[in-house]
Amino acid sequence: EDKSRVLGEALAQWAATMPHEIALRHGDATIDWETYDRHVTQIANGLAAMGLKKGDRVAYLGKNGARACELAMACARAGMIIVPVIWRLAPAEIEYILKDCDASALFVEPQFEAQPFDGPRTIMDDRFDQWRDSQADTAVTTPVDRGDVFLMLYTSGTTGMPKGVMLTHRNATVLRPIVQETGLGWFTSEPGDALIHAMPFGHIAGIGSVTGALNAGQHLIIHTEFDPALIIRDIQRYNAKQAFLVPAALAMMLDHPDAKDADFSNLQGMGYGASPIPLDLLKRGVERLQCDFAQMYGMTETYGTVVCLGPEDHGPGKERVMRAAGKALPSVGLRILDEEGNALPPGAIGEVAINSPTNMAGYWNKPDETARVLSADNWLRTGDAGILDEDGYLFIQDRIKDMIISGGENVYPAEVESALYGHPDIADVAVIGVPDERWGEAVKAVVVRRPGATLDADGVVSWAREKIAGFKCPKTVDFVDFLPRNPSGKILRRELRAPYWEGRERQVN
Ligand code: ATP
Ligand code: MG
Repeated sequence: EDKSRVLGEALAQWAATMPHEIALRHGDATIDWETYDRHVTQIANGLAAMGLKKGDRVAYLGKNGARACELAMACARAGMIIVPVIWRLAPAEIEYILKDCDASALFVEPQFEAQPFDGPRTIMDDRFDQWRDSQADTAVTTPVDRGDVFLMLYTSGTTGMPKGVMLTHRNATVLRPIVQETGLGWFTSEPGDALIHAMPFGHIAGIGSVTGALNAGQHLIIHTEFDPALIIRDIQRYNAKQAFLVPAALAMMLDHPDAKDADFSNLQGMGYGASPIPLDLLKRGVERLQCDFAQMYGMTETYGTVVCLGPEDHGPGKERVMRAAGKALPSVGLRILDEEGNALPPGAIGEVAINSPTNMAGYWNKPDETARVLSADNWLRTGDAGILDEDGYLFIQDRIKDMIISGGENVYPAEVESALYGHPDIADVAVIGVPDERWGEAVKAVVVRRPGATLDADGVVSWAREKIAGFKCPKTVDFVDFLPRNPSGKILRRELRAPYWEGRERQVN
């Protein structure tokens, strides 16, 4: 049964049932549900007064903030489409997205004002508040359906140019009641529970926590951007029940000096995901935080999480399943496909495909690309290689595009990275395939040493030899000061690969 909702109605419901509870908190400022609801109506009316119509794209360029949440929900209420752009992208990338989505208006924070844009722009500071407060607060009458697109989110651009993913009200709200009914512990939150929103607004983990909190009536603690010290502080200060961090952020939090004496006993759930997590990092997190850990696997195209490794699968003696991304959420179908698109039996490796009510409506302006990944019966090809075991656990190997074929053997960089990450001298590591006369491709490790460490290439290789099969071990090692990552914390292996492949075509399956 479809219990999805229109976001504007969910907001109105909380405004009616708990008007004076806190909906949004940003720094010392708080906004209650009644005010959130009224602001959203005023902004929706303001957008209409600007001449914007149902289906028009409204771009937001800025950091996380209460204004951004209000603007996004105003688009939802007005039947428009919010396009949150990640501010950390290069100006040319931002320009590409603003053009590609054909935005009718830009809402921009003062520090990004120089961004070129053809069309009306509103600065997100006091001027925005004044504009909002001068709009009518009469009810918005535009009909909005659960199947309408309210969000266009660009993929992280890890494997190529970012693609605009069209997501609907149904995508944003359909899974919660289903998951709630089946009593899956970690996801069940009560209205009023505090949730930290620290991942970028322009990433599904960011805006997904904004719509998730709205859907569930949670108290959203907004962090302008990820700051390990603030996370550590707010977990303690606001009795935060849940937080979601990408693995790179979790590592920064655990390594931060403030983590040493912090009291994390209030925290009940730590969600992590968006990229593979090294087992040692996960173990360290569980050990230190002593709370429920849940891994999330999903993508922009599935409105975030569709596979979850719950708290019961974390802890001592759970080493095997701790390497899994988890099991499909209720009402989500999982398949492993061969190159022709046929389903493979348990234990076989192939491309992960997902059938979920949260699957996107399609890519914006890319009908061919949409048809390539999304079938008429709603199976989405993820581009990830994985294995489904007899018990339904999904083991993500890596991106198919990043798989290294060396001497006819397939090597998944994430596995090699996870093994190397366990070395005490290694702070960060990426594994890539480089051209090799003899093997076709050879495995290369790109390593960031911990400060003061003297580890050399031989040390890296001999450590790997003890942990993984010989053909997976790096043949060569580069040492660097830092690894290129995109704003969602994902290592950009294509950038690391580029200099080695200059002038040659790399074969990808
Ligand atoms: P692009 O599609 O532009 O290359 P992207 O795939 O990185 O970018 P996202 O939609 O943000 O953009 O990321 C989804 C991808 O992140 C998944 O396809 C998968 O490769 C990876 N991912 C997400 N969750 C996990 C997880 N728990 N473990 C391993 N990988 C994950
Ligand atoms: Mg992708």
